[in-house]
Amino acid sequence: MDRETREEIERLKRERNAVILAHYYASPEVQDIADHLGDSLGLSRLAAASDADTIVFAGVHFMAETAAILCPDKTVLSPAPDAGCSLADSISAARLAAWKAGYPDGIVVSYVNTSAAVKALTDWCCTSANAVKVVQGLPEGRPILFGPDRHLGSHIMRLTGRKMELWDGVCTVHDRISREMVEDALREWPDADILIHPEAGCSDDAGLNANPRVIFASTAGMLRHAASSRAVTFVVATEEDTIHQLKKENPGKTFIPVAPGICCGEMKKVTVRNVLECLRYGTGKVVLDEDIRARAMLPIKRMLEIG
Ligand code: SF4
Repeated sequence: MDRETREEIERLKRERNAVILAHYYASPEVQDIADHLGDSLGLSRLAAASDADTIVFAGVHFMAETAAILCPDKTVLSPAPDAGCSLADSISAARLAAWKAGYPDGIVVSYVNTSAAVKALTDWCCTSANAVKVVQGLPEGRPILFGPDRHLGSHIMRLTGRKMELWDGVCTVHDRISREMVEDALREWPDADILIHPEAGCSDDAGLNANPRVIFASTAGMLRHAASSRAVTFVVATEEDTIHQLKKENPGKTFIPVAPGICCGEMKKVTVRNVLECLRYGTGKVVLDEDIRARAMLPIKRMLEIG
């Protein structure tokens, strides 16, 4: 990026009292202009704590919506409002309502990768970073309806021993990460740790879960593991641009994608150019129905309080 663009972004940020939050899956150029980087949990916390008047959310639409739910007094701008998410799209409020109707005393736990309307019908939100804690804290004896990611749901059932009803949704990016890919990586890189996101297609595989070289973790968890591990080589089985930050925080260590092309095209719809347009013209403002926003706030607040 040229110096003029960077200076213009800084000037507009000052003018609007704006902050740029970016997800680790954003393209490296976008990550590099962000004030804060994070995974879904970290960015929700940052949005809630920010004293900026405007938040430019460099992520897919549900992420900007989550910031708007938490920050009704701030302007939240989405640089690419058409950037969707296969996982969030796998469940609608109408389909969730029909599912819930079959379990009158059920507790609904929704991954944060859902629309505001789905969150409004949810009891608890979670991310991959805190799903275990959320599920462990739920009362016994009532059905748990977990959605929309069935891979994450199976993984959490394994870790907590809690039985849950699972929605049959997947992230089409992470679903491609197979047991065979990971086994090939284990053979090819015998000294490497393998970092896998629990949304991956192989996350409920018993053999991989028992392998001490395989670490299932959220993106923030991967960053912590890479910093503390004695390993110097890591195979990364998640969205490929996560490697940008892993490398920045761990110079001298080597990060290898598990396979080429594990890439979320929707996240790449956010560009330096459309971030600049948001700041310049106030485009992409997220507007929510107030009733939905207020109801969606409760499960997100519960998620943030549990840590
Ligand atoms: S990587 Fe998957 S879950 Fe994440 S934003 Fe893209 S489609 Fe959604």
